[in-house]
Amino acid sequence: MRPPDGQVYRFDPGALCLELLATGGPGPFARFETLHGPSELSAWAAESRLGPCPGLTVTEPELAAVRRLRDALFLFTADHAHGRPWDPRHLEPLNDAAAAPPLAARIEADGSRSWAPGATGTGLLSTVARDAVDLFTGPYASRVRECAAGDCFLLFVDTSRPGRRRWCAMERCGNRAKARTHRATKA
Ligand SMILES: [Zn+2]
Repeated sequence: MRPPDGQVYRFDPGALCLELLATGGPGPFARFETLHGPSELSAWAAESRLGPCPGLTVTEPELAAVRRLRDALFLFTADHAHGRPWDPRHLEPLNDAAAAPPLAARIEADGSRSWAPGATGTGLLSTVARDAVDLFTGPYASRVRECAAGDCFLLFVDTSRPGRRRWCAMERCGNRAKARTHRATKA
């Protein structure tokens, strides 16, 4: 992540579908948009949990569909994290995307995992949407949270055994909170 104050840090939201949320968002979050063209979506996929997806083709309409799903999933996840009721309008794009065939996983001759040739933006979108279905209907659904810093809106799932994760990243918001507590104690 590259916050405006310049300190670059690593943020692992704990699930593929939540990784997509950090690429931009609806309304005021549009200024953080990073998916401006199909090549940026391919680059995101390669850096995500999916890993390299050689030969992935993404069209402009597919990119637009990914951004639509992301924005709906962003609002859906925020509602979920704060215990607010789900808006059915946010579920529709999710279920539509999940209905398409996902990327096909395969094992290469050298034992490594990769994706079958012919991967498309629609397959990528379906894979992300199915990950969201699994997350929000699975054992960690109640562990989806927003960063506890009041000025940070990053969403993550806490998959740690104790389940006490509060921050997007300890090195970012965790340390900022520690510094505040320290200053308050000294004062
Ligand atoms: Zn944070």
